[in-house]
Amino acid sequence: MTNQSLPTLYPTRCTACGLCLVACAEGVLALQAGCPVVVQPQACTYCGACEQVCPTEAVELYYEIVLAPEADPGTD
Ligand code: SF4
Ligand code: SF4
Repeated sequence: MTNQSLPTLYPTRCTACGLCLVACAEGVLALQAGCPVVVQPQACTYCGACEQVCPTEAVELYYEIVLAPEADPGTD
């Protein structure tokens, strides 16, 4: 994963509940001074568990929209 593929954390929305740390099976996140931080960026699988569990939307993952190729109109 690159830095651009890591979850974005918004400290002002965070209540330091720790749910995202529990949800992350990879140990990517840690609480420092009452705020989650990415401490193992290389371990992030971008699974989205931290985003799903956060009650205050303080974690956000970005998803790239990939358009399907245009359907082949064929020649009939
Ligand atoms: S996206 Fe998944 S692996 Fe990455 S920090 Fe969140 S819960 Fe952990
Ligand atoms: S789940 Fe959300 S509110 Fe709780 S510690 Fe993580 S980022 Fe903060």
